[in-house]
Amino acid sequence: MQYKRSSALFAEAKKYIPGGVNSPVRAFKAVGGDPIFVSHAKGAYLFDEDGNRLIDYIASWGPLILGHAYEPVIEAVTEKAKKGTSFGMPTAIETELAKLAVSMVPNIDKIRFVNSGTEACMSAIRLARGFTAKDKIIKFAGCYHGHADAFLIQAGSGAVTFGSPNSPGVTQGTAKDTLLADYNDLGSVEKLVEANKGEIAAVIIEPVAGNMGCIIPEKEFIEGLRKLCTAEGILLVFDEVMTGFRLSRGGAQETLGIDADIVTFGKVIGGGLPVGAFAARSEIMAYLAPEGPVYQAGTLSGNPLAMSAGYAMLHSLNSKPEIFESLAEKTHYLHQGFDRVLTAAGIPYQVNRFGSMISVHFTAEPVKDFKSAAKGNNDTFKRYFHGMLEQGIYLPPSAFESYFLNDALSYQDLDETIAALEKVCPLLT
Ligand code: PMP
Repeated sequence: MQYKRSSALFAEAKKYIPGGVNSPVRAFKAVGGDPIFVSHAKGAYLFDEDGNRLIDYIASWGPLILGHAYEPVIEAVTEKAKKGTSFGMPTAIETELAKLAVSMVPNIDKIRFVNSGTEACMSAIRLARGFTAKDKIIKFAGCYHGHADAFLIQAGSGAVTFGSPNSPGVTQGTAKDTLLADYNDLGSVEKLVEANKGEIAAVIIEPVAGNMGCIIPEKEFIEGLRKLCTAEGILLVFDEVMTGFRLSRGGAQETLGIDADIVTFGKVIGGGLPVGAFAARSEIMAYLAPEGPVYQAGTLSGNPLAMSAGYAMLHSLNSKPEIFESLAEKTHYLHQGFDRVLTAAGIPYQVNRFGSMISVHFTAEPVKDFKSAAKGNNDTFKRYFHGMLEQGIYLPPSAFESYFLNDALSYQDLDETIAALEKVCPLLT
């Protein structure tokens, strides 16, 4: 495939935008080569500036669970735009989306909309601190909760892809209040709780991790975490930016059968427009301004275009909940295909899958936390990524990211993807 125009656009972008991109992972630094500039997309397909068609496994990093340019979302946004794009005043659509989200997700009474997953997690932690009157939080190595200072401590996703899980610019003062535990290791959390008795406001976790590839929580771990938080008066924050409205109508809380105290959302809830949200039971949300003392605000929060996109998306998912099952079946089919091909080729690998999230790590050992994810062979991953791209398959350009399947993917697309892997395998040994 030719990517001449993408490369020229990238060279131009680098003159005016740091690294040529507005979010680091897009730059392909972990895999080498120039990023692809997209022209437009429809359903499961991306069309780039050179006229190539690619089967998309990123779906804008999760939001587009029903495929690109999904008609009900496009129509809703177009109609809304004709009436004005922003008011900084209350609009009825905000309540409609809030009501719908609260009806779909268990265990939440009220929701506040923001503009990104980062804002949602940052605000959730402030709320947890305000509610508990405690300062410290526990996060897990390899989990990513956006780029707010408190989270850039052993962060996953782009931060670890670029070798800077602890970012310069985050003060020691901030870092000391973020304690680090290991995913799927309850003992590591218990130790921190013991050593910081009565000082921890919240434990924040990706209930199914997607920022060190896809990692599944062990049952005893996640159940134990819930019990420990309840016993110690610590709020359990589920970061459902990836899993919310993707694993099921009610997200990971429903799928895993665990209640969180605060839940954060992003991605799917905005239908492809910039939306994040955080939600909890009324008693906790009452601490938020203007009802309570914990300040949080946003000029464009609850933006009518974003709200109408989110409403069209959630409404579709709510009225066709069988989509979650059919997406999980497609993901299982892809998993089986990858197993067949990689096993036959004798390549050491792990495929982790949960619902419509899946990832491949090139290591012989099971991947269940950040340490095991980091053992993946990055040279093999690079060859895999570029080989698949050459075959017209667009995968996340880092082993520390999950793939997100979308409803527009057909079984023919999946077969094409598995056949592509078969062609790429000789490059991997
Ligand atoms: N939490 C999780 C689990 C995420 O995956 C992400 C982004 N990938 C974020 C928070 C941050 O969201 P945003 O990029 O919208 O700020």
